[in-house]
Amino acid sequence: MTDEPAALTLGRCDACNARFLPTDGPCPRCASVRTQPYSVPGLGTVLAATELANPPPRWPNPHRLALVEVADGVRILGIVDSPLPAAGDVVSVRRDGEVYRLRGEPTPS
Ligand SMILES: [Zn+2]
Repeated sequence: MTDEPAALTLGRCDACNARFLPTDGPCPRCASVRTQPYSVPGLGTVLAATELANPPPRWPNPHRLALVEVADGVRILGIVDSPLPAAGDVVSVRRDGEVYRLRGEPTPS
């Protein structure tokens, strides 16, 4: 099975060159409205990950979250749909409505 990561859309400010998410609205750094969407690979490097052993009712149990860094230093907090990754692992990142879904396997050492 091939599971090619989809592209992610980030925002870039024409005034100060900041890169950010979400892509709608003004630049979070300088408030300029001259922003443009652009695509980057849907891959992120895990900075931190955790697993909630007792999540709220109706949430998946266990509930796994990770903070990842994608292209241009943009950081995303997402829900992990695979075993809990470790810091430094590379995971696929895709947008699913209002949340980001992360999936990956541990990097071979
Ligand atoms: Zn800006």
